[in-house]
Amino acid sequence: MGKYDADKYKEQLLFHAFDSMPGGVLIYKANEEEEILYANHATLTIFECDSFDEFMELSEGSFKKMVHPDDIELVESDIENQIITGIDKFDHVNYRIITKNNKVRYLEDYGKLVEHPELGLLYYVFLVDTDIKYLTYDVDKLTGLPGQKRFDEYATRLLKLMSINKDAPEMVYIYLNISHFKIINIKYGIERGDRILKEVASILKDTFKNDYISRFADDHFALLTVHEGIKEKIESVSRRIMDIELIGNTIELKIGAYLVTDYNEKAEISVGYAQIACESIKYQAGEHFIYYTEELGRKINLQYYVVNNIEKAIEKGYIKVFYQPVIRALTGELCGMEALARWIDPEVGFLNPYDFISALEDARLIHKLDRYIVEEVCKNYKRCVENDIPLVPVSFNLSRLDFVLTDIRKEIDDLAVLYNVPKKMLNIEITESMFMEDASRIKSQIDGFHESGYNVWMDDFGSGYSSLNVLKDFDFDELKIDMVFLSNFNKKSKDILESAVMMAKKINIQTLAEGVENKEQFEFLRSIGCEKIQGYYFSKPSPYEEIIKNCEEKGAVVEELSESEYYDRVGKVNFLTDKPLAISEDDGKHFRIFFANELFSEILRDSGVQSVEEAERNMNNPDNPIHKMLREFAVRVQENEEKEMTYPYGKEYMELEARVIAELNGRYMYALSINNITKNVNMKEKI
Ligand code: C2E
Ligand code: MG
Ligand code: MG
Repeated sequence: MGKYDADKYKEQLLFHAFDSMPGGVLIYKANEEEEILYANHATLTIFECDSFDEFMELSEGSFKKMVHPDDIELVESDIENQIITGIDKFDHVNYRIITKNNKVRYLEDYGKLVEHPELGLLYYVFLVDTDIKYLTYDVDKLTGLPGQKRFDEYATRLLKLMSINKDAPEMVYIYLNISHFKIINIKYGIERGDRILKEVASILKDTFKNDYISRFADDHFALLTVHEGIKEKIESVSRRIMDIELIGNTIELKIGAYLVTDYNEKAEISVGYAQIACESIKYQAGEHFIYYTEELGRKINLQYYVVNNIEKAIEKGYIKVFYQPVIRALTGELCGMEALARWIDPEVGFLNPYDFISALEDARLIHKLDRYIVEEVCKNYKRCVENDIPLVPVSFNLSRLDFVLTDIRKEIDDLAVLYNVPKKMLNIEITESMFMEDASRIKSQIDGFHESGYNVWMDDFGSGYSSLNVLKDFDFDELKIDMVFLSNFNKKSKDILESAVMMAKKINIQTLAEGVENKEQFEFLRSIGCEKIQGYYFSKPSPYEEIIKNCEEKGAVVEELSESEYYDRVGKVNFLTDKPLAISEDDGKHFRIFFANELFSEILRDSGVQSVEEAERNMNNPDNPIHKMLREFAVRVQENEEKEMTYPYGKEYMELEARVIAELNGRYMYALSINNITKNVNMKEKI
């Protein structure tokens, strides 16, 4: 074997080797024109040119013209930056080109700036057709779609290129997920599941023809597309997917969208937002499509925070119980409070239940909060007893999941025993919407609570869909009428409130209206016989001490527990009557009129008594003959000997009817009716 003749082969091999390379080789001058000196065979293939001349014609012999016009500016500055700042005068850029057949292709360009002894500064460039590169990399075998990594690279690159174009269209990331796909797989088999995925992929390809679509994993797809017309396309995709044949089931898509605002943001981040949006409607039946918003992002971050920090918040006492007073409509006395959770976090600040309850329910951690609130309520009771602070019964809210995740009844019982709290001091609120599922389990729990001696209230009555049904099937002691009826306070909602109160009395349930914000609402509710009132009109939820202090400052009376049953009996009276009605209390010395309906007041006025206050003064004035008559009449009514009394007033004869409705240690509550006999006789004569 002879000596290896390098020079002999150099010439022969060099260009042959370049032409046989699996990637493009390009040499151009680093001058203003960026004059192309050489392109190998692979470069010609990329540009779909048959000869070097054709390529030179297409590129006008210049690198500037070879690159897609929308990309060249960014590419040039990118190359320059890298050459200046990097070592070895090396650059790596991506751009689009347009082939001879007008196809757009993506190239990766690895270039190096080199000084040639005769030709001066040259760029030696190695070109890779990215689409070809990716053909063998990160492809989903099932659908043929690119995977997540490839999607991220592509989308990031595309948007970066678009960022320099002022007229670039608005772009949107779309994230799609098939609802309950795991169940489909289990129910119909993996093979059928796979076929569905393929069908979904082909529907997407068909709808988003020019877009880059990817299957990330399982039933998760993503794509990047123009924003214009997106709703129609989404609708069409959803419809076509619902049409996929699946015995006894339809396939439902959940779709999140993220409108691109920063074209330089990495795809993995942007598509993450679309995914977050998509997941936010995962459990919301009927919701298919949602845009990511900052508000949604904030909410989701918060949910994440809540779930991760609930134990710490309980341990460190960041969760506080706020109390909202409940007022007896008849007397204006404080007769109860509702315990409402507040999370006052040193890091994220003040959180309302709406910020954390549903997150805790989703994470199946709600029972931890609810048990803690009950314990705090019990502790507060014990502290008040020990320190002689006024006390009223407290109601607290339970969640449906409390019944599933723990033996909530036993937990409450144990706490009541531990802190020595009488059952009557604890009322349980269960929201109406809870009865949609697990009805039989909840029914037995309610019965159990009753057996233990607690009162159970239905919260948010009227806010859900099946209020009346729930009332029929479950036993409640009190109805909390939802504030929806007050927020739009018109004739119709008033009629509904009237009927609800009347119905509750008929089926022997007490009534409480929540969300009362002004005097008008309060007076109306009082006039229809709604027994208890809760709302900002009296107080916002506040710490216990503050409520008691406020009551003391205003001279408001705190109802004794023994009085509650007494007043509760008055609550059974139907105020909605077409007869004159007044409610009056008598402690043996003093009469007090708590309430008189319009007709009652009118008859009084007709007979010359201008107001209820005047009537009360007359009744209690020892110099007024009425006083003595009424005192004697009261004794006979209490003994059940008489019901009616006739007395003269001015020129008229009046008839008073009285009935004892409640009694407590010598205090009597009467329902009164009144009749102007003279006037009625006259009326009859006229007729
Ligand atoms: P809810 O039980 O119906 O409680 C009444 C809600 O209405 C409270 O909101 C209260 O602050 C608010 N509110 C009271 N008066 C007015 C008013 O006049 N106007 C208006 N606009 N709102 C008024 P909050 O405290 O934000 O509680 C919201 C819901 O969160 C509660 O509704 C209850 O369902 C739930 N919740 C609160 N604390 C707990 C808890 O410890 N455990 C569970 N499971 N749920 C809780
Ligand atoms: Mg409540
Ligand atoms: Mg409520």
